[in-house]
Amino acid sequence: MDNLRISIAHLYPQLLNLYGDTGNILTLMQRCGWRGIEVEFEQINTSGEIKDHDIYFIGGGQDKQQVEAAHELQFHKEFLTQQRDEGSVFLGICGGYQLLGHYYRPFDSGSLPGISLMDAYTVAGKKRFIGNVTAESDFLTPHTLVGFENHSGLTYLQGETEPLAITAVGSGNNGEDKTEGGRFKNVFGTYLHGPILPKNPHFADYLIELALEKRYGKKTALPALNDEIEWKTHASLVRKPY
Ligand code: GLN
Repeated sequence: MDNLRISIAHLYPQLLNLYGDTGNILTLMQRCGWRGIEVEFEQINTSGEIKDHDIYFIGGGQDKQQVEAAHELQFHKEFLTQQRDEGSVFLGICGGYQLLGHYYRPFDSGSLPGISLMDAYTVAGKKRFIGNVTAESDFLTPHTLVGFENHSGLTYLQGETEPLAITAVGSGNNGEDKTEGGRFKNVFGTYLHGPILPKNPHFADYLIELALEKRYGKKTALPALNDEIEWKTHASLVRKPY
């Protein structure tokens, strides 16, 4: 797949980057590299300019770091909304996911503004959800997604924003409605750390294919890789409801 390329921006890695979320970037880069797809990569830190990219990634973080990230993101809300509408792919993990919605209201402070790329909002809950998650996603084959959650935020989806998956084991968005994560257009959010992509190669490839379609205006089926280790890891983490 020589001559193909995609560009990836990592938003605020110095603020939002819990539980090895950077591993998601490495996975996207590696799975492109193995196929001869060139990757242009850029880290965007506070007060940095954000340019046109095919994939934007934002990781998880503590409430304190989310305050600064939320402030920064407001300067780029209009541009990132335009990028969303032009088909750019977004992947937000946990704290980063929360800021892709309208707001995140922690326990001990006022609401942090999100950038409303998806119709969702988050409020702090009394309980912390910590543990392995197995969820079923209807647009991936196989359907399972596995990962690790650690959050007190309760996220509620509205309007046309669909869940990323339905939890079989674990709490997901709020421990009530069995939804996990969210999707609107090519904007994806999830509570699954791990990082999520190395152990869910089908999701990683799905995002790469969407990014290629955004850049080149046509669907490109990625050639298969030898994912024996990835699928063994995935299978070892799939939990059945008790
Ligand atoms: N601070 C947020 C919460 O507790 C996000 C945590 C995270 O990114 N793991 O819900």
